[in-house]
Amino acid sequence: MEIREITDGKKRYLELLLLADEQESMVDRYLREGTMFVLEDGGIRGECVVTDEGGGILEIKNLAVATDSQGKGYGKALIEYVARRYAQSFSVLQVGTGDSPATLPFYEKCGFVRHHVIRDFFTDNYDHPIFDGGVLLRDMVILRRELVARPQSAPQEMPEQIARTTEMEKKMIDFNEKKGFICDMDGVIYHGNRVLPGVNEFIEWLKSNGKEYLFLTNNSGYTPRELKQKLARMGLDVSEEHFYTSALATAAFIKDQAPGCSAYVIGDSALLNALYDAGVTMNDVDPDYVIVGEGKTYSLDTLTRATNLVLAGAKLIGANSDISGPVEKGIAPACRALISPIEMATGKQAYFCGKPNPLMMRTGLKLLGCHSAESVMIGDRMDTDVISGLESGMTTVLVLSGISTRETLDRFAYRPNVVLDGVGDIVRAANGLL
Ligand SMILES: [Mg+2]
Repeated sequence: MEIREITDGKKRYLELLLLADEQESMVDRYLREGTMFVLEDGGIRGECVVTDEGGGILEIKNLAVATDSQGKGYGKALIEYVARRYAQSFSVLQVGTGDSPATLPFYEKCGFVRHHVIRDFFTDNYDHPIFDGGVLLRDMVILRRELVARPQSAPQEMPEQIARTTEMEKKMIDFNEKKGFICDMDGVIYHGNRVLPGVNEFIEWLKSNGKEYLFLTNNSGYTPRELKQKLARMGLDVSEEHFYTSALATAAFIKDQAPGCSAYVIGDSALLNALYDAGVTMNDVDPDYVIVGEGKTYSLDTLTRATNLVLAGAKLIGANSDISGPVEKGIAPACRALISPIEMATGKQAYFCGKPNPLMMRTGLKLLGCHSAESVMIGDRMDTDVISGLESGMTTVLVLSGISTRETLDRFAYRPNVVLDGVGDIVRAANGLL
């Protein structure tokens, strides 16, 4: 077997020449490492990301077959292998593919049904030389296939090698060489109103070393000014331009997709302000978009209006796909739960802009003026922070000061570049003390 590393603009591929009986083991490696790969002989190129947000969904992204290998059943073989292997752990297998007459019948034969379509998306992901000059995908279809259902609480059976993260943890990154840092807040900077250990030192290190940085939250209900004040109350001095929310990511996405468009918005003033700043006008008669975030304007009246506007053709957008969030006495439904009545009533699926959509990291990097290869994503969650950093090509740091533990880390088929106890360890690593 030969392995060659190819750097193609923003992305890194492993190009492999395999014998037929080696293919299964390479699929394992690919699932384990989350890297992209090319099987020259089999002609399969793909990126497989396992997501488990309580929905038990296994997802294959960007599966494509090289032009001269099409029609030989390699793609189907990969899908069948993945389905067989993970049927005990996941209830749904999901594949994103181009909306083309050539590929859809193939997926139907494999038992997939159309779930939803993302318009004008992923146009630049298929430009590798093996694809005969590139396949330009205008639309992406999300297809789903039921696997053998099993209770979600049951432990997943992951191969032993996936659980082995020790070697990876020892390999330290040179943080001095990195220019941009995108840092999740809850569970990384603070817990409730308590600042976590090492945070002051980390912020001082960012400032004194001239790093570009953003503090990020999926909540669309706070403006950068409110976040600055929240941190100031905890004794942390961070100015407004260093905050980044799913409201800002949503506004950047809408501005990029349809400059000067109009929207009907259910959400707080932070979301409205971000959209106004992006040149979006408010319209409750015939808007281009219906946009939903967290907020107190949510009611049966606003839901009913939103439902009818979506039925009349408005595109449905969610600021983030969080299902719930903590409040003082338990949890409160968050954006994804709030938007679902509109989805159910209209039969249309929303598109979500916040984490884990890597779009949020890409627009964040644009704000920082940094390339993904010179930037680091720091977060406390594998299923949102690490996955979106990884999918946008950044170096990923999982801190154990929040949600994820070493045990939950092992449940995922992808891994962060490094695992640290908290952000204070970044300063220690940068000073050669770790
Ligand atoms: Mg967090």
